Amino acid sequence: MATTVSPTADVNFGNRDKINWITLVAMVIFHVLAVAAFFYTTWSAVVVALVLHWICVGFGIGLGYHRLHTHRSYKTPKLLDYFFAVCGTLTLEGGPIFWVAVHRIHHQKSDQPGDPHTPREGAWWAHMLWVMFGDALHGNTEVMGKYAPDLMKDKFYRVLTTYHWVPLTVLGLILLAIGGIPWVLWGIFLRVVVGLHVTWLVNSATHMWGSRRFETSDDSKNSFWVALITFGEGWHNNHHAHPRSARHGMVWSEIDITWMHLCIMKKVGLAWDIVVPTQSQIERKEIDVEEAAA
Ligand SMILES: [Zn+2]
Ligand SMILES: [Zn+2]
Repeated sequence: MATTVSPTADVNFGNRDKINWITLVAMVIFHVLAVAAFFYTTWSAVVVALVLHWICVGFGIGLGYHRLHTHRSYKTPKLLDYFFAVCGTLTLEGGPIFWVAVHRIHHQKSDQPGDPHTPREGAWWAHMLWVMFGDALHGNTEVMGKYAPDLMKDKFYRVLTTYHWVPLTVLGLILLAIGGIPWVLWGIFLRVVVGLHVTWLVNSATHMWGSRRFETSDDSKNSFWVALITFGEGWHNNHHAHPRSARHGMVWSEIDITWMHLCIMKKVGLAWDIVVPTQSQIERKEIDVEEAAA
């Protein structure tokens, strides 16, 4: 049974006895309204959803939560760092401290006991059920913070994690005011559901299906189709082998849109100290997982 988690206790993600009601109800509402969006289709609503998908998943998750906030694969001006964190909250995947903590635990315990989302506990568990069960920690910044002490030092991340749902609510009201119901259904509900599922595919599909470039201790795979819909996050075996690398697609044919974003940012001076393994490091897999997560 669930117990109160103290800041020193391990987080119990796998507690299947306890339903995370807030998340479950939110997911049901979002999925129902995502389907409803198809009855309110306008061209402008579709464009709004596509642009927001690019900003929220491409910038918020790929450039922000994952490669910047979790792995610190590059440096960028603080304002842009914060902007990416706000974009990340617009995916409804929790605030930056929650996301980073969960993902660092995933790297530390990949496909082992304690991994928040491993297909070894079931494909649907790894894909989406893991967020609906276990201790409701999305808003518990203090508990999750011990896994992201670097982010905990910054009040902006702490407040944003506790109130991670606020930017999405504000965005929804703005869309309602400008474009009415179609913009809200497409730009918030359908777009969030699609964003959730493509992100979740990295946890489920790329730990089950695809090819392996590196002999890692986990089940991670490289998946071309997941990479295409996640802005490059599908080169997941490359990523587990070289977690600090800002580049996940290791060769030109491994399309990695987030890496393309970074190349543009570097050109205009918005990204520097970009971590990329050398050829010999790729061959010897010298980038350390624990070091990257520390
Ligand atoms: Zn993984
Ligand atoms: Zn990672």
